[in-house]
Amino acid sequence: MSILQLTPNEPKIKRVLKKILFGKHLFCPYCRGKRIKAYEKRYHCRRCRKFFSLTSVSWLKGSKLPLQIIWLLLYCYTKKIPILQTQDLCGVTEPTVRRWFDSFRERLPEPEFERLSGIIQMDEMFKKEAMIIGAKQKGTKKVICVPHNKIAADRKDVVNFLEQYVTPYKSELWTDGASIYKGIQNYWPVWHTKDIHNKFEFSHTSEIEGIWANFRTFIRRMYHHITNAKLPEYLYEFCMRFSSPEIFDSPFSYLEKTLCLVSS
Ligand SMILES: [Zn+2]
Repeated sequence: MSILQLTPNEPKIKRVLKKILFGKHLFCPYCRGKRIKAYEKRYHCRRCRKFFSLTSVSWLKGSKLPLQIIWLLLYCYTKKIPILQTQDLCGVTEPTVRRWFDSFRERLPEPEFERLSGIIQMDEMFKKEAMIIGAKQKGTKKVICVPHNKIAADRKDVVNFLEQYVTPYKSELWTDGASIYKGIQNYWPVWHTKDIHNKFEFSHTSEIEGIWANFRTFIRRMYHHITNAKLPEYLYEFCMRFSSPEIFDSPFSYLEKTLCLVSS
């Protein structure tokens, strides 16, 4: 499909926003009144006499770009189009793309929290002056990653992670032979097995290592580089893309899950 077909016209986008925000029948977000008069760009409530528009009542409030450009930016975001390419496609500056992508990231919903259980692969990833402790429930899309502002992990980090995110007594922990995992079952009730450095054995941490590889590729391709200060939010976005891909199916599915009325 061409970029033109991908971008609905403005009336269509408005219909989509209206349906997500108000459902079938428009009402006043301030007094819930049903007698609303539509003007070209905004609505007027006959009961409380307040004006509102489709963007003024959601987090799109205050945006100056045309709705079609916002839609296209969102399309690029959901499809992981790199920043520079998005800049060209949307005809906006790089800071504008970054600002909108930041905004889309901030609106991602909080996942329902569930501890990992069953077979869990755990490993660390190192980044310049930062590191991530992560675990993946084997064979599932459940991944939890915790960033740290230091260059090495210690046993305490591992124990904290297990206490928070790993179900006791019901989990089998698979790790590499790193010393921070030695005797970890004495600190948190898990069944621990580790790689015994046999290069012909299939790695105990192959799935979580795959996550690290995907994360590096995702950052390099889409954002080019990120600072350590922003590592937590990008990591969060990455994990959401991995575990809840349905949010990123299209601008419509993203808006459906992130847009709601904010009355202020
Ligand atoms: Zn009203």
